[in-house]
Amino acid sequence: MSSRAAPGAGAEPPQRDGIADRIAAIITALASTSLARVVTDQATAKRIATLLHETLPPEDTAASAFEDETGRWCAEIHFSSPPDEAAVRALVAAAGGDAAAAALVFEQVRPKDWVQASLAGLTPVDAGRFRVHGSHDRGSVPGNRIGLEIEAALAFGTGHHGTTRGCLLALDGLVKRGKYRRILDVGTGTGVLAIAAARAWYVPALATDIDPLAVAATRGNAWLNRAGPKIEAICAAGLSARRIRERAPYDLIFANILLGPLVRMAAPMARLAAPGARIVLSGLLPTHAHAALAAYRAQGLTLEKRLPLDGWMTLVMAKPGREGAPAANDSAPATGWPRRGIVN
Ligand code: SAH
Repeated sequence: MSSRAAPGAGAEPPQRDGIADRIAAIITALASTSLARVVTDQATAKRIATLLHETLPPEDTAASAFEDETGRWCAEIHFSSPPDEAAVRALVAAAGGDAAAAALVFEQVRPKDWVQASLAGLTPVDAGRFRVHGSHDRGSVPGNRIGLEIEAALAFGTGHHGTTRGCLLALDGLVKRGKYRRILDVGTGTGVLAIAAARAWYVPALATDIDPLAVAATRGNAWLNRAGPKIEAICAAGLSARRIRERAPYDLIFANILLGPLVRMAAPMARLAAPGARIVLSGLLPTHAHAALAAYRAQGLTLEKRLPLDGWMTLVMAKPGREGAPAANDSAPATGWPRRGIVN
C-alpha cells in the first residue's frame, strides 16, 4: 500500500488549459489501441458495460455504456493491448445475448481518437442538484444546478453509473438537511463525489483511491471544478493510511466500492465516523445490500435510506450521536462559490 500526501491545500492552481492538456497527455500515454463496440438498447448496453467492467482487469480496460449523438445506445470496451476477441465476445453474449455478441465489432484506434471518443461520448447526467458533464457541455449547466465537469480519463465516476448517481442523490438529500464539514471519499475514482460535496458546502474533503491513475484524475478534476484547494487526494488501499486517521473523525463518508471491501471496512469506517455522521455505501447489487447492512449494523449504525437505481443499491447509514445532520440549517454555500460549471 502506498500513501502520499496530495499537493492539496496551498498549492498554486495549475492553469485550466494546462490541466486539460495534462489529463489528455496522461490518457494519450496510456491510451487504448483496441476498441470493441456494440450498438444495442439501453438496458443491454448497461448490462454489457457493467459485466465487462467487473470482469476485465481495470488496469487494461475501460468499459462504458452511453447514448451517442444520434440517440443510439452503445457499449464500448477500450483495451490497452489487443484483446482475446473470442473471450470478449463470449462475455458480451453472457451479458447481452447472442444478438449483441454477433453485432460486436472490433477496431483499432489511435490514442487521439480514443480521447476524443471517450470525452464526446459522455452525455450530461443529472442527479438532484448536480449535473455531471464533460467539457463540451460546460455551457449547458442550468443556474439552479451545481455543474461537475469530469474528465473521465481512466478513472471510474462520470455519473453515468447507477452507483455514482445513487451516491449523488444521497448527497443531494443530505445537502437539503444540513451541512457536513469533514468529508472522506473512499475509492474516489474521478473524485466526483468528493468534489460534489466540496462544491455543495464549500468544505474540504479527503479523497482516496487504491489506483494512482484515479488519484491523478481526481486532482485534475478538483482544479477543473475550482475545488483544488479543498480536495486532498491520496493513494491508499482501504482505510489504514495514516493520513486518513489524521483527518478523522468524518461527518460524511462515501464508499462506492464493492461488497467485499465494504464489509471488510465496516469496523474501521465506523470508528472513523463522528457521532451523528452519515456513511453512504454503494457498489452493491440489491442482493448484496443485506450483507452490507448486517456488517454496518453490527458496528452500531442504523439504516437511514435505501436508493435503488439501475439495478444497484445505495445505502445511507447513520451513526448514533447528535440528532440529525451536523450544523443543520447551515447548508448555504459560501458567497462567491461557483455553483455552475466552469465559465471561461
Ligand atoms: N467514487 C466514484 C468511483 C467508484 S469506483 C464514484 O462513485 O463514481 C470504485 C473505486 O474504488 C475505483 O476507483 C477503485 O480503484 C477504488 N477502490 C477499489 N478498491 C479499493 C480499496 N480497497 N481502497 C481504496 N479504493 C479502492
